Amino acid sequence: MEQIKDYVAEHKDRFLQELFGLIRIPSVSSVADHREDMVRAAEYWRKTLREAGCTRSEIFPTEGNPIVYGEKIIDPALPTVLVYGHYDVMPVDPVDLWESSPFKPEVRDGKIYARGADDDKGQSFMHAKAFEAMVRTNSLPCNVKFMIEGEEEIGSAHIGPFCEEYKEMLKSDIILVSDTSMIGLKTPSITVGLRGLAYMQVEVTGPEFDLHSGIFGGAVANPINILARMIAAMTDDSGRITIPGFYDEVVVISDQERMEMAKAPFDEESYKRNIGVDALYGESGYTTKERTGIRPTLDVNGMWGGYTSEGTKTVLPSKAYAKISMRLVPNQNHKKISELFERYFTSMAPEYVKVKVEALHGGEAYVSPMDTFGYQAASKAMEKVLETRPIPVRSGGSIPIIPQFEEILGVKSILMGFGLESDAIHSPNENYPLENFYKGIETIPWFYQYFTEMYRNR
Ligand SMILES: [Zn+2]
Repeated sequence: MEQIKDYVAEHKDRFLQELFGLIRIPSVSSVADHREDMVRAAEYWRKTLREAGCTRSEIFPTEGNPIVYGEKIIDPALPTVLVYGHYDVMPVDPVDLWESSPFKPEVRDGKIYARGADDDKGQSFMHAKAFEAMVRTNSLPCNVKFMIEGEEEIGSAHIGPFCEEYKEMLKSDIILVSDTSMIGLKTPSITVGLRGLAYMQVEVTGPEFDLHSGIFGGAVANPINILARMIAAMTDDSGRITIPGFYDEVVVISDQERMEMAKAPFDEESYKRNIGVDALYGESGYTTKERTGIRPTLDVNGMWGGYTSEGTKTVLPSKAYAKISMRLVPNQNHKKISELFERYFTSMAPEYVKVKVEALHGGEAYVSPMDTFGYQAASKAMEKVLETRPIPVRSGGSIPIIPQFEEILGVKSILMGFGLESDAIHSPNENYPLENFYKGIETIPWFYQYFTEMYRNR
């Protein structure tokens, strides 16, 4: 195992160049124009896994973007680690806020700047290289499978059916995922909870077609004004969501547990500085970490309608749209929440507009227990390489596929992420520190090692 470190040091430049090759493929899953890039990115992964030492490395087409599968089975009696990651990325707009081109990776101040540098190309690529290091140094202690999808950023619609169909092929003892963040290399952490998600799109229609805002303005309801009012009414002054029944299932966290959670170091000043705000805002009665960890939220992701191009056009628009996402906590069912949203939104609409509500995608929240081999192995691995025992934290993000894996494959996932909150994932100037990339590659083999030891001694 000790030779892993040397192997990483010896090959670090090549690892980086290979990651750059993947990053240069603009695999934006939400834009239809990138369809071919999705296939190219999948092919890049297939090749990467093959070259890293997988004896089987294939692309499985789906009705959406292809899924890459790779494996190396050394002994069926040994445990199997299934690595999950995604090669698709978020769109890059507003592109003029990027200091360098999003698909031309650049290293500045020790960080890789590019779309996907962290989420999830940089992070998932660590697994390919950690695996390669284990294979090349003859230190792979167990069986490995890889499952890399291309639709994580758009709701992972096809990986569920893929898991159903290939349950046998995907059989494993633990799923290992690096698609979350840690507090820092000096204060490592492991994500033990994820929020769920219910993502809605609404459409408000006023007049049948756009009207002249001078001739008709004042006599006809403006759907954008109405939508703005409806959205504003969905939260109250204390930051609570007003949808009836929204909080019914929310698990109340004990004071004891809140005290435990509060022990994780958190610097509010640097948090504010990192995101460029002077003050924070959220549900009253909860700390910032609680607001993102244990409480549900409602946010407008985008709102449009009418005239939005340069200059002026005096129009009273026919339609207004918004995309609204709700982050959910354990026990809230995303389908039920979507229904409550739809019922409330429809009931709020005044008679002078028509509304349409569509649930775009969703997923449940997830909690990972700490008394498992998986968690213990991850904790020991991080402690070994980073010299500090990681803190368990609940993340505000959602990875809808994680609770689904448990449902379909019956296997828990370990969220051993090496990203940082300051990595600007989904935002302009996404970045990933080189140190996190390399430390991640060094840590992963230790996970395999400890997990296998615990499994054999069980
Ligand atoms: Zn991701």
